[in-house]
Amino acid sequence: MALQPTTDIQYLKGVGPKLASVLRRRGVSTVGDLIEWYPRAYEDRRAARNIASLEDGQVVSLEASVQAIRSMPLGKSHRRIYEVVLADSSGRIACKYFRVPYKGYFERFAVHERVRVAGKVTLYRGRLEFHHPDLQVVYDDDPATVDQLIPIYTETEGLSPAKLRKLLQAAIHELLVTTRPEDMLPGWFREKYGLMTRAEALKQIHKPPSAEAAEFTHYRSRAQRRIIFEEFFWMELHMARRRLGRRNEQAPPMPKPSGLAETLIARLPFRLTGAQLKVFKEIQNDLREDRPMHRLVQGDVGSGKTLVALLSSLVAKDNGFQSAMMVPTEILAEQHFKTAEKFLQPLGVNVACLTGDLNTRERDDVQARLAAGQIDLLIGTHALIEESVSFRQLGLAIIDEQHRFGVEQRMRLKKNISPHFLVMTATPIPRTLAMTVYGDLDVSVIDELPAGRSPIVTRRVFSSKRDPVFQFMHDQVIEGRQAYVIYPLVEESEKIDLKNAVTEFESIQKRFPDLRVGLLHGKMKSEEKDAVMNRFRIGEIQVLVSTTVIEVGVDVPNANLMIIEHAERFGLSQLHQLRGRVGRGAHKSYCVLILGYAISDEAIHRADVIAGTTDGFKIAEADLEIRGPGEFLGRRQSGLPGFKMANLVRDLPILQEARAAARELLERDPDLRQTGQKMIREMLDVQSKSIVG
Ligand code: ADP
Ligand code: MG
Repeated sequence: MALQPTTDIQYLKGVGPKLASVLRRRGVSTVGDLIEWYPRAYEDRRAARNIASLEDGQVVSLEASVQAIRSMPLGKSHRRIYEVVLADSSGRIACKYFRVPYKGYFERFAVHERVRVAGKVTLYRGRLEFHHPDLQVVYDDDPATVDQLIPIYTETEGLSPAKLRKLLQAAIHELLVTTRPEDMLPGWFREKYGLMTRAEALKQIHKPPSAEAAEFTHYRSRAQRRIIFEEFFWMELHMARRRLGRRNEQAPPMPKPSGLAETLIARLPFRLTGAQLKVFKEIQNDLREDRPMHRLVQGDVGSGKTLVALLSSLVAKDNGFQSAMMVPTEILAEQHFKTAEKFLQPLGVNVACLTGDLNTRERDDVQARLAAGQIDLLIGTHALIEESVSFRQLGLAIIDEQHRFGVEQRMRLKKNISPHFLVMTATPIPRTLAMTVYGDLDVSVIDELPAGRSPIVTRRVFSSKRDPVFQFMHDQVIEGRQAYVIYPLVEESEKIDLKNAVTEFESIQKRFPDLRVGLLHGKMKSEEKDAVMNRFRIGEIQVLVSTTVIEVGVDVPNANLMIIEHAERFGLSQLHQLRGRVGRGAHKSYCVLILGYAISDEAIHRADVIAGTTDGFKIAEADLEIRGPGEFLGRRQSGLPGFKMANLVRDLPILQEARAAARELLERDPDLRQTGQKMIREMLDVQSKSIVG
């Protein structure tokens, strides 16, 4: 019988039980999966070079022989660096690995053996080297090596590149040549959007024509365009359908203007920024409708999002509805609760807090009052979406720092009638990405910080210069300020030589007996954490030594110094979030990034990005560039489908085309009922299952 895309991989010729299990581990369980194992890169072997001709920044591939394989300790840490030295008649070059790609990776080579190296040439301390290049033993019998444009696949233990290419050709033959499948995109559609057939595209992708070397290397070939377009198209069609579906959803309209909100605005000790007012107005407009609001408010740390959220809850209250505010951590829940009490209690609004660590009696009490409608705003962690929690009339659900809450959780708050959703995030997302990831949300941006904030002075220093930094901290505290000192780890770890919160807390206290130092980390009980946080908030603790539990949303305006040890261990957005804890009051604020020994160029680059700007959007762009969209967003949280070839940054123009195509198609045929669209409908059902968002 002919093989189908859904046929188990073990029925493909050449795949035995052992290879089948290797493939399954790599996520390939069917023949169709195998065909979608796309090349990671293409290597143009016509451009063969010798080592002496290499230049910084080139992406090249060349053959050379192994001269040495060795490992050595990395700086003062316990980690090791691996080096494979290659040579040809023209010179030598080192391939460096900061981690072992997989067990046995280096054991594949012997000295004097011929290998092919592919990667980017990097200038480091005056020398050219490769960092984490692809290394392959040169097989004499590899038929692919006589071709000129070679697809390169991700290294897999137990599967040689030559074997993989052979399997792929077999799969292509079975699925695309022997049986000629109908294309799921109808002919008129392919023609309209300039798409080749999927079968032809797949064939070319795995066996590219040499004449198109440049196009394939840069993902501009027609074959790649077809596959990239298709990946985006399913996602966009899914979102466009969801948008359509929502037209029929019911939400409670809140047409009454809020007297309470006006009162609060009048009583604030400061004026709302123009951006806060603008966004609040947008929210009020949404709330008037009888369709649920789905609005994302982006605003840099400290831009005053919380206040906008509180004002929105007052609109709900004035219209007779309850609000819920979900936050990612207990510390934040506690803090928002305090803020809400401070601003709302005097107006006669009832606020309560529901976190995971209330005892049963307290929980029951909150739940009873909630069900009776005696609580207007309930703040809490995910405890808030548990089945047992029922509101009398939930009208508005506010989700703070949404990147930690999936869309699925949003859905769980919906009962027969949907509340309005307001999502707040301090992780600025480049506009292009926001369109995609939050394709179903309207986006507002608070693009203005409250007046009178002084910019944060940021410096990076190496570990050897720590002492003066702490002296500076001492001086600031003596002047009445407070400081944070952040560590990546809680306790001492034998494996990694990192300064850790617990021991450093002790040593800082010892060095500065005149300062009141506190310790906060994730392993403490929540009452302990709250107690420490409160003592810091009221100034009893002057220096707070902490891990990243402090990260999101903590607000102590008197704190003006943020010291981050081992800053190399943190990502860009995390550093930005941490820095956002200072610069919240009237005092000049500082952030010092202390870098450990033996760190990568990338870590230094990250520190420089942070030192160079406080603009969260710029940092987000840089982050996206460094990490790519998948990592940047974290696939699971974002609900992004796992693209196999498409790249949100590189392929943005194709994304825009695919979106337009999806919308146009639904306009023609909203239910995808017409015969030509039958396969699209079926595919969409399959695809939708993998698209969580
Ligand atoms: P975000 O949640 O956006 O990081 P917050 O809502 O926590 O920011 O606000 C940060 C601090 O700024 C809080 O102390 C808040 O009371 C204060 N704040 C909010 N809006 C203004 C404003 N318009 N002017 C001055 N201070 C403000
Ligand atoms: Mg906040």
